[in-house]
Amino acid sequence: MGRKIIVTGGGHGGITAAMLLAKNGFDVTVFEKNSRENMGHDWTDIFDKKGFTELGLELPSKELYKLKHDMTFYGPAMQTALHQNTPADQLEIQMERRDIYNYIIGKAEDAGVKLVYDCEVVAPILFGNRVVGIKTSGGDEFADLVIDACGMDSPVRRALPESLGIQNEAIEYEQFYVYRAFWNKTAEVEDIDKFKVLMLPEGKLGISWIATEEEHTDVLIGRFLPLDTDEVDRTMDVLRLSNPSIGTQILRGGQFVKIPVRQPLGVLVADGYAAIGDSAFMTVPIIGSGIANSFKAARILADAIVADKDEAYSAESLWKYQTEFYKRIGSGLAPLACVKLMLTRLEGHELDYIFATGILNADDMTIGADSTNLASMLGGMSFDDIKIKLGGLINDKTVLKKVVRMGLELVKATAVTAAMPKKYDRTAVLKWVKEYNECFKQ
Ligand SMILES: Cc1cc2nc3c(=O)[nH]c(=O)nc-3n(C[C@H](O)[C@H](O)[C@H](O)COP(=O)(O)OP(=O)(O)OC[C@H]3O[C@@H](n4cnc5c(N)ncnc54)[C@H](O)[C@@H]3O)c2cc1C
Repeated sequence: MGRKIIVTGGGHGGITAAMLLAKNGFDVTVFEKNSRENMGHDWTDIFDKKGFTELGLELPSKELYKLKHDMTFYGPAMQTALHQNTPADQLEIQMERRDIYNYIIGKAEDAGVKLVYDCEVVAPILFGNRVVGIKTSGGDEFADLVIDACGMDSPVRRALPESLGIQNEAIEYEQFYVYRAFWNKTAEVEDIDKFKVLMLPEGKLGISWIATEEEHTDVLIGRFLPLDTDEVDRTMDVLRLSNPSIGTQILRGGQFVKIPVRQPLGVLVADGYAAIGDSAFMTVPIIGSGIANSFKAARILADAIVADKDEAYSAESLWKYQTEFYKRIGSGLAPLACVKLMLTRLEGHELDYIFATGILNADDMTIGADSTNLASMLGGMSFDDIKIKLGGLINDKTVLKKVVRMGLELVKATAVTAAMPKKYDRTAVLKWVKEYNECFKQ
């Protein structure tokens, strides 16, 4: 048996990293706070199916997924409809979260991963600056490496000492507060409105989506500030007025949850420690998708661990994971965090103006499977093309100011991300991460 690895949290990133490492002979145990039956939310997810290929897995059987509907975006005035037209090869798939879990957990078990359910991870155990294990509801556990896959409120990441340069908490405007439920469907809708996304609805900082499916109507209400039941009830009443397909009976879901919508964690590793998935804020900041990125990061992390022939699993040897993740994924996500910040600064009428004047058009909103950086989201436009497009279209001075501010922040974030130290040296890394975090201030 190879060296011992603990994975905290059985999400998409944790399970798949565990699977890849067990296939490489490591002794891997996943500690998950939920029972097996309660793993995953009772709803569907949309993601890039190439995530499975990255993991070396064949696609699940065809009955388990379908292609996602194109979305139609509306500003608060509901006047301009921007309907996506995603090319067939860029369409993401929609799959039940429970089926995704069944599939990856099955593969992890086949590879020899041990899964311990109903076991809450409480804190890391440190020896000096090295993470050597975890405290759990079932007792202390020790390992050569701890992979933190506990999600955005990870108690492991949160308790790490400041001296490691790993940001403990997400701050305001970096988390999206979401309520999602499947309601009984009470009407059919036109094709164009099968998946409606309302941006800054009623001028509120957030989005609502209404996806009218065959058997239910999927409603998501997301805000940058915490949501409560009264606000959900009020918003549902407003949505029903213009969306006759939303009934009053909840069929599935109905939970309050959070999604990270920010730049990836600046430092992903420490001695004996690596963060992955939502623990490391790997979601696409504007749209909150994190599944495919978690799968891709699992592959990058497993490769870095396998390549560490000295079996040190130190910050130095795991830095390969950090640099490769940023090269392939993180450097595209960081600038998108600047775009998200700009969106949080917009007034409702300013977004209406942006939609009405075509500053953002249907092509720009066509976010496909490979849209994990700004250029690909804007149809492959170069930064110079973007500047020309914006310069020619924006006559509103306040909007222009906000867009220019975003442009400057974006250029800085891109440059700072690219200047990440090539090798791990604590002093250089701490200096770099301070600068990186500074790029994303609201
Ligand atoms: C409403 C909603 C809709 C979403 N839709 C999509 C979508 O359509 N497409 C997409 O790509 N992404 C979507 N996401 C984001 C996606 O769910 C995450 O990015 C992805 O699941 C991250 O995987 P992860 O490995 O970080 O694990 P997570 O899903 O964050 O799971 C963490 C795991 O750790 C466990 N855990 C937490 N704390 C502890 C503890 N203390 N001890 C032990 N175990 C613990 C949890 O129970 C959970 O199993 C959505 C998220 C939400 C909330």
